[in-house]
Amino acid sequence: MKDKRWAIHKFGGSSLADAACFRRVADIVAELPGGTLGIVVSAMRGTTDALLGLTALAERGDRGFADALAGIGERHAATARELIAGPRLAELLDAWQADAARIQDLLHTVAGEGEPSPHARDVVAGFGELWSARLLSSYLAERLGEDRAGTWIDARRVVTVRQTELGPAVQWDVTRRRWRENLAEDFDGIVVITGFIASDEQGVQTTLGRNGSDFSASIFAALAGADELYIWTDVDGVMSADPNRVPEAKIIPSLTYSEAMELAYFGAKVIHPQTLVPAVEHGIPVIIRNTFAPDQPGSRVLATATSEEQIKGITAIAGMALVNLEGSGMVGVPGTADRLFGALKKAGVSVTLISQASSEHSICVAVPESLAERARSVVAEAFAEELAGGQIQKVDVTPGQSIIAVAGDGMAGTPGIAGRFFGTLGRAGVNVRAIAQGSSERNISAVIDTSEATRALRAVHSGFYLSAKTISIGLIGPGSVGATLLRQLERQGERLREEFNLDLRIRAIARSSRMLLGDRRIALDGWRQALAESTTPLDLEALERHVDADHLPHAAIVDCTASDDVARRYAGWLARGIHVVTPNKKAFSGDPGYYAELKRSCRAGNSHCFYETTVGAALPVIRTLRDLVDTGDRVHSIQGILSGTLAYLFNVFDGSMPFSEIVLAARESGFTEPDPRDDLSGMDVARKLTILAREMGSTIEIGDFPVENLVPENLREVDLDEFLRRLPEHDEAMAARFDAARKRGRRLRYIARLDEHGAASVGLEEVPPDSAFSHINLTDNIVQFVSERYSANPLVVQGPGAGPEVTAAGVFADLLRLAAFVGDGVSV
Ligand code: ADP
Ligand code: ASP
Ligand code: MG
Repeated sequence: MKDKRWAIHKFGGSSLADAACFRRVADIVAELPGGTLGIVVSAMRGTTDALLGLTALAERGDRGFADALAGIGERHAATARELIAGPRLAELLDAWQADAARIQDLLHTVAGEGEPSPHARDVVAGFGELWSARLLSSYLAERLGEDRAGTWIDARRVVTVRQTELGPAVQWDVTRRRWRENLAEDFDGIVVITGFIASDEQGVQTTLGRNGSDFSASIFAALAGADELYIWTDVDGVMSADPNRVPEAKIIPSLTYSEAMELAYFGAKVIHPQTLVPAVEHGIPVIIRNTFAPDQPGSRVLATATSEEQIKGITAIAGMALVNLEGSGMVGVPGTADRLFGALKKAGVSVTLISQASSEHSICVAVPESLAERARSVVAEAFAEELAGGQIQKVDVTPGQSIIAVAGDGMAGTPGIAGRFFGTLGRAGVNVRAIAQGSSERNISAVIDTSEATRALRAVHSGFYLSAKTISIGLIGPGSVGATLLRQLERQGERLREEFNLDLRIRAIARSSRMLLGDRRIALDGWRQALAESTTPLDLEALERHVDADHLPHAAIVDCTASDDVARRYAGWLARGIHVVTPNKKAFSGDPGYYAELKRSCRAGNSHCFYETTVGAALPVIRTLRDLVDTGDRVHSIQGILSGTLAYLFNVFDGSMPFSEIVLAARESGFTEPDPRDDLSGMDVARKLTILAREMGSTIEIGDFPVENLVPENLREVDLDEFLRRLPEHDEAMAARFDAARKRGRRLRYIARLDEHGAASVGLEEVPPDSAFSHINLTDNIVQFVSERYSANPLVVQGPGAGPEVTAAGVFADLLRLAAFVGDGVSV
């Protein structure tokens, strides 16, 4: 006999927060395909809490409820005035006045004057839905015309329930009859219906429990024989975890009734657990949509799944306590559990989770915290004899617990889900107190401390949903190398994600005075401007905390500065588990004690430190040396040209042009540091040699070996301008060195040497024309390793050893190496 199409749309309190929200809802309703529509509404956001607050005040005898009530009224009146005018507005305000008077009466009785109504709390709490229904209905009539809209139903006249221990049970026969009585059979417009409120069999007002409007909507969908039930809320759908707690949460496009039920029951507030019961019975699809993003498709809850993910979501319910009954006297004694649950049932304590060790030495149950004391005392009473006799040692209660659960139909029969769940909790340092898995295998739950719940949610979520190779990265020093690296990452990011499942997320960029922090990631096409506009002052500790976020599997800091202060922090970062990637030489060429500390920190934090680009830019110098050492070769000596700048200067210096002019031209072209003395002093080469020495196990320090400073003594302390002006004074001396070498058929090269006994030197040398060092190009670096394996013919690494492009590419390559180390997790 069903000949017309019905759809039910429910708008939650978050969708009805203010006048703008009502307009948005009306826009959505106006756009819906025709047919008969039931619009179920919650109270305006916060109203139910506010109304319950009034009863709480009255219960304490606090007269402040009168003012508070006026405040609630003012908010509704103001919203109504923004939306409606004329007689419709007057009608609404009159109705509100009458309701306010009734609430006042009820509260006075609660406050101790007169006969208190046993149901005052429920009655007061339910007014919010009446107000929002009237308001929306009037507004829709104004917008869409009286022909289509303007009808509303007070659900108390229809929905009849019996309150049971398992929540309200709908009395379908009465409810159906009343539905027919309250809406004409041929009705085909838009009817607005109050959510949340209902009546009991005696006709007394009651509610469907907090968040019960979802349930109301589902009841009305069943009554109307609706084709679909839409739940409009403030998120894009059912997400893999509460998006307010897990920023990475993803929308679940499709899930089964049982999955949705499991998630709802275990705390996914987005739908009320009972909502699905009528929908399931009538096979009505439930679609969760976002009022604030109506173009999003939302989540569809259906009888059968259309996706194959094994787990659908992760939830947490707070406010639990564990009651633990423990004693050797319980082992092998039948009926203990029965007595325990019997006692709890009698006291009206509902049990959310049960866990018993197979030794039967203890049984523990999770119950709502508010009932924990009651639970403890009834259990102690039930087992009083055993407690006195010592067969049961104790009944204790641990408050402040949360249940974290993973749910999904696809978990059944899939090995490894529990392993991953508990593995990620363990790695996040979250202690698990009790565990339960139903044999339906649709849910695994663990009881943990509430203070750790958000961290646990994030860790478990990333364990299941994120690529194991997601690295949260902070970059310090976006100068030429840093900025080039960001550009390279921007270009390659998509490909790395698609091809290698590798997600290198820049989440912080810092320069000397300020920093930019991004919650998920910083958009790399606009970082420059965003950083320039950022007002967040540089705070390396805050940066460290932000980068090392709980919800991301790995964290790394890329230091592209030359700063000693930043380098001093590596040990702390590494010890905390934050990886370090850097072209900054300071940490590896300074104090040997600190260098040893870095190595210890890596071990302590199970972290990695990559600094290939400190020597020879992207050339594999350190890696080659490490491979030799690690595979048991004995390196006898290393020699090479380690400065691209000095390589260039002496390549170009052929006697035809004074040395000072070459330096100035090189400076102009950006081949030297801004102050060329930083290159000419040889310090940079000495640092690189020290780094190589340490890789060979030597502990040499700068100062232990001779370093030839090419800056004339009288120009070392003067300011830069004077240095540049007076450099020609020394051209003659340089020319003389060049000529002397030429006479012997040799060329000048700035060379670093090191042998296995720790003897080292850095300085200008004459090299014969058949030496490899004679024939290098431009800024080439060249390093020769002589070892036991490479004795007759040294191992040579040669190529461009300077410049932002290659250096940045080297840092990038180090990041990829890091990813290869950390990414050994499997992904679902
Ligand atoms: P409404 O007022 O529309 O009924 P609620 O606040 O009751 O909205 O429910 C929506 C909220 O549910 C979201 O804002 C979100 O914080 C929370 N939530 C918890 N778990 C989930 C989840 N798994 N998916 C989506 N939302 C969730
Ligand atoms: N207004 C009620 C509450 O806040 C019901 C609902 O919003 O679903 O619990
Ligand atoms: Mg809700």
